[in-house]
Amino acid sequence: MTQTARLLDGKAHAAKIRSDIASQIQTLHSTHGVTPTLAAILVGDDPATQSYWRNNRKACEEVGISPLSFTLSADTSQTELDELIITLNLRPDVHGILLHAPLPAPLDSARAVSLIDPAKDIDGENPATLGQLADRSHPLSFAPATPAGVMRLLELENIPLSGKSVVVIGRSRVVGLPLSLLLLRQDATVTITHSRTVDLSSVCRQADVLIAAIGRAHMVTAEWVKPGATVIDVGINRVDDPANPGKTRMVGDVDFEAVQVVAGAISPVPGGVGPMTVAMLLDQTLRAARNQLGL
Ligand code: NDP
Repeated sequence: MTQTARLLDGKAHAAKIRSDIASQIQTLHSTHGVTPTLAAILVGDDPATQSYWRNNRKACEEVGISPLSFTLSADTSQTELDELIITLNLRPDVHGILLHAPLPAPLDSARAVSLIDPAKDIDGENPATLGQLADRSHPLSFAPATPAGVMRLLELENIPLSGKSVVVIGRSRVVGLPLSLLLLRQDATVTITHSRTVDLSSVCRQADVLIAAIGRAHMVTAEWVKPGATVIDVGINRVDDPANPGKTRMVGDVDFEAVQVVAGAISPVPGGVGPMTVAMLLDQTLRAARNQLGL
């Protein structure tokens, strides 16, 4: 009989999280008169960045977070960018800061993110925030939103991590690496893989939990997956849509149709990690506001 994996419905979990956040924000506002505020910095007019922020802005408005955006021209100077971040760090009415990457050359994004006050670093961009993830004796503050979303999804779905073999494909600064550190904090036995990993499919086949954050459509096939494993697909890729000639559709890094027959549980694309990422940005903004109020 064909096995069909349990679907890890990030969209449904994210809707519930957003509704909880909205009611907590109402309470915060009525008891303390404070509206959590997220300040986004956009540099230049990259369409993908603008669309990403439009989506997040709408999500903020829906839960009662005030979204502020600061758009700088592509030829802005490093000093101007640095000064904006420092000003936002000092503004008591701004609780979270989100600096959208990529920055146009020659702006130094490593320098810019290192200026974000860790107390307002709601997308875990400052290397100091990443460093804290690596220190298990340090309480968890903020994490990049996508890894935080994956961890929340695993938690809500009661997927055991302690002592389990978890393979992460990808070691990027925003997804693979911080996610691996978060998994380690949960006592998983973590293997981080990347483009130089030899015999990647065999490594993946050992995993109780396999997480793909690669950016290659349908790269993970059924042969890579141990029967019954949990598969989390972080990838977002656009491919031609045969059903709609001339149009594209969004797919993940996992060949969903083939893998769901082997896996025990699987997150879809769209509707898996993506909505959890947005929910975690909101969650961490609310948390930053509460921390800054001493709550
Ligand atoms: P990056 O391009 O920064 O990193 C990709 C990683 O995959 C690198 O570590 C790279 O290895 C590894 N990789 C690339 N090709 C191969 C290969 N053939 N075999 C093994 N490993 C490989 O991407 P991101 O981490 O930023 O994003 C990963 C995916 O997640 C993308 O599809 C992105 O769109 C998506 N994403 C989704 C989000 C969401 O909300 N759902 C949010 C952020 C990203 P190496 O280090 O050796 O180059």
